[in-house]
Amino acid sequence: MGKIKVLSQEVADIIAAGEVVENPSSLVKELIENSLDANSKSIVVEISNNSRNIKVYDDGEGMSEDDLKICTKRHATSKISSKDDLYNLHTYGFRGEALSSISSVSKLAISTKQENANGNRLIQIGEESEMEPIAKNRGTDIFVEDLFFNVPARLKFLRSAENEYTKIKNIVLKEALANYNVSFSLIIEDKEKLRTSGSGIENTILELFNGNVLKSLNKFEWGYLGDINLGKSSKDFIFTYFNGRYAKSYMVDKAIVDAYYTRLPKGKYPFVILMMEPDPKTIDVNVHPSKKIIKFANEPTVYKVVRNKVSEALSTIDRKIISSAIDSQHLKKPSDFSPTFKSSFDFAVDVPQNNNLYEVKKSIKMEEKKIEDTRQDDYFVENRFVGQINRTFSVVECKDRVELYDNHIVQERVLYEQIKESYANKNIKSQALLVPLQFDLTTIEKESALKNTEFFQILGFEVEDFGGKNIVVRSVPTFNFHDSLQNIFQDIVEKVSENKKEDIGDIREEVIIMMSCRKSIKAGDRVTEEEMKKLINELHRRGSYTCPHGRNIIVDISFDYLEKKFQRKK
Ligand code: ADP
Ligand code: MG
Repeated sequence: MGKIKVLSQEVADIIAAGEVVENPSSLVKELIENSLDANSKSIVVEISNNSRNIKVYDDGEGMSEDDLKICTKRHATSKISSKDDLYNLHTYGFRGEALSSISSVSKLAISTKQENANGNRLIQIGEESEMEPIAKNRGTDIFVEDLFFNVPARLKFLRSAENEYTKIKNIVLKEALANYNVSFSLIIEDKEKLRTSGSGIENTILELFNGNVLKSLNKFEWGYLGDINLGKSSKDFIFTYFNGRYAKSYMVDKAIVDAYYTRLPKGKYPFVILMMEPDPKTIDVNVHPSKKIIKFANEPTVYKVVRNKVSEALSTIDRKIISSAIDSQHLKKPSDFSPTFKSSFDFAVDVPQNNNLYEVKKSIKMEEKKIEDTRQDDYFVENRFVGQINRTFSVVECKDRVELYDNHIVQERVLYEQIKESYANKNIKSQALLVPLQFDLTTIEKESALKNTEFFQILGFEVEDFGGKNIVVRSVPTFNFHDSLQNIFQDIVEKVSENKKEDIGDIREEVIIMMSCRKSIKAGDRVTEEEMKKLINELHRRGSYTCPHGRNIIVDISFDYLEKKFQRKK
């Protein structure tokens, strides 16, 4: 007896559904794309019941009674009819699989009405379906209920509600950004999480992010390039659209990151909105079933074209920033320009920050007191501070070796230990501000900032709701940071809101590392011998010899090694 059986249609459909409707967020994406294909101007998405109930309302073209009858059949589509159409796609959908997949794993109701026709509703539960006439406005409402009610395995793998909600927010955000002339609203558990008015790209950016983001974006031929104040810790803020649809291309992401190469610190990624219109024939849409990842026929060419385009645009922006920076009062006189600055971009943006000697001195003074209080012995009784080289390293002569220290890393390590210690003892000193700092955050950021006020409190920031998308910070830590408190706070908020883990403790370390790094001397800063000696003393007192990023703090060369090198010894 053979073992092979042909699966029943029902089982085959459930398996196929797994591909299209991986999870609630992919389902939301399919439904939004159907509404867009129907030329809707307004799309409302409502989510509840742990993402298992999903409603999408649109004001698009609607379906005729005949179309409604068959739209949930497998491979039922109005969008392509021949093989040739496959290579010239202008719609989001074309497989005719979304509605059939959704209907096989949920209880589905579709109400729809075309311009000069009567409205109808289709209710489909499993193989059972019924149609009835209804009254409604033009457009289509899709109600998905009890998603995965008949696929317990998938239900079990539905991750936490919060997690899925975040993914849905991201999907709607990406669609809203691309379709900036369509208004979107996302409501989760009766709360509006996001709303755009559909009135142009810049309004949409403002509505989805905030004014600071819009200010830091520079328009170019293919979209917007964020400046370095908008450096992000992941590639999630590189929004790429191809012929109007959001997708990721490994090559295009790489080209963008490479174009920014010298402009962003290591580990930072840019905020970019890139909208390309490649010839649809050059895109292989089959790489990923839900078209989230695409590949080009000629990837190396695409890489070069994108990188050059972005690089050129960034150079133009650099020039603009420099000329406006020269006008600004923060800037030193042109004769003070250091001839060794690496890129004009680095320079122009660095200057307005606290780069002056006074600030650095002040911050080190503050440490001084602490160091003196706790110091037990002086490293420089037995060892000689030789000097500093390249405004970056300190040289110390010891009995049997010479030691090289990286000034920035020494301070970063010392600060890291100190901040960590104050954090652990919950005694980070904080100071009330006369004029509180106001932040205009994204909905997601605001939510996580308010959820973690206690964490911020221990870090020295007192955070309060200020209505709308705003919060205010009433107190800040008293450390003399080398960067503005606005930047530091904004970065911590981002870290916290990007945190996928449940426990805030998991990112505590990262936040402290970031704070200590932001506070430290940078290469090229002038630091006195006394200041460096104090820091080195403190470092030895604490006995930690790698920086929080894992880099070495001390490089030493033994005299023994030098003698061998110069062939004094064998
Ligand atoms: P596809 O989008 O790949 O064609 P779907 O299963 O997503 O397949 O949809 C099947 C068909 O149902 C579509 O081709 C379209 O004709 C119709 N349809 C689906 N959603 C809508 C909508 N919101 N408005 C109008 N027609 C729709
Ligand atoms: Mg579709």
